[in-house]
Amino acid sequence: MEIDLRSDTVTKPSPEMRKAMANAEVGDDVYKGDPTVNKLEEKAAELFGKEDAIFVSSGTQGNLVSVLSQANRGDEILLGDICHIFGSEAGGVSVLGGVVMYPLKTNPDGTIDEERITEAVKPDDYHKPSTKLFAFENTHGGVSGMPISKESSDKMALAAKKAGLRVHMDGARIFNASVALNTSVKDLTEHVDSATFCLSKGLSCPVGSIIVGEKDQIAEARRIRKLLGSAMRQVGVLAACGIIALDNMIDRLADDHENAKKLAIGLSEISKVEINPDNIHTNLVKFKVPENKGFEVSDKLKDFGILINGSYTELRMVPHYGIESEHIDTTISSMSKVMNSI
Ligand SMILES: *Cc1c(COP(=O)(O)O)cnc(C)c1O
Repeated sequence: MEIDLRSDTVTKPSPEMRKAMANAEVGDDVYKGDPTVNKLEEKAAELFGKEDAIFVSSGTQGNLVSVLSQANRGDEILLGDICHIFGSEAGGVSVLGGVVMYPLKTNPDGTIDEERITEAVKPDDYHKPSTKLFAFENTHGGVSGMPISKESSDKMALAAKKAGLRVHMDGARIFNASVALNTSVKDLTEHVDSATFCLSKGLSCPVGSIIVGEKDQIAEARRIRKLLGSAMRQVGVLAACGIIALDNMIDRLADDHENAKKLAIGLSEISKVEINPDNIHTNLVKFKVPENKGFEVSDKLKDFGILINGSYTELRMVPHYGIESEHIDTTISSMSKVMNSI
């Protein structure tokens, strides 16, 4: 069997999800007539303590729809310089929405200083774009899945709000943060206007993300989703998995975190691997190998049946549903052999 550690997106639906898909009660969601989608959206809104929610196709689309439902052409969004919206979504908010992105320096713990947010808000001056929105990420994928505490999230969100901005949280892996911090997602998103999370990562659904927010903003999100061609019909077959994810797949993320920690400790004991296990709090295990050796390492691991995300120097392994403790043992011993041959 392959040990696929490229991402938690490679997770496949659980047997319970497959069964729920087969039996899902469905209708036309464009008419709001799919009871399973409606149930999932209500459940998500309640879990986050927000007024409403909407099911979308992906995390990227969740962020795009969230931004475009809160900022217009020529408006500006402030966001971290190593965040997913800025660096890994093909510039969608600018390409499709004409929204200007203004990147702010990100601290090593994934937070952004409040003064940086405040200082970046543009004055009312017709030479400037109009600053409308601030976005941050939790967990932060750019810093090895760092969970951002309620205290830090609140500080950023409240600073932005005080400056008159709306706040969006890219919570693709927010449940990893809530499990790691032992804090509810409701608390972690108390002061944000909108938040997205992925069902298709650690929660193991085949497809889907959700946006939660205020009634008016979600209504606008529904229009934008239609505009993007992503209003779907009998999508309850997918939403059925989402309901199971929220009921049964959150607490088990702690196992992924435990496996990630074990993996990080194992990797730290291998020569020529650079990682500090103290920095690994959730499921993303990023580490460095000697310069430009990354692809050689990932290629050689393939011979051991192990798949990882390769780059020139920084590599990533992500434990998830289906990865057990013994797979971590195999991965560590295989890495040790590979690094000896580098
Ligand atoms: C994965 C991810 C996304 C995008 O989700 P997709 O479903 O892959 O489009 C957005 N933000 C963060 C932080 C992510 O990790």
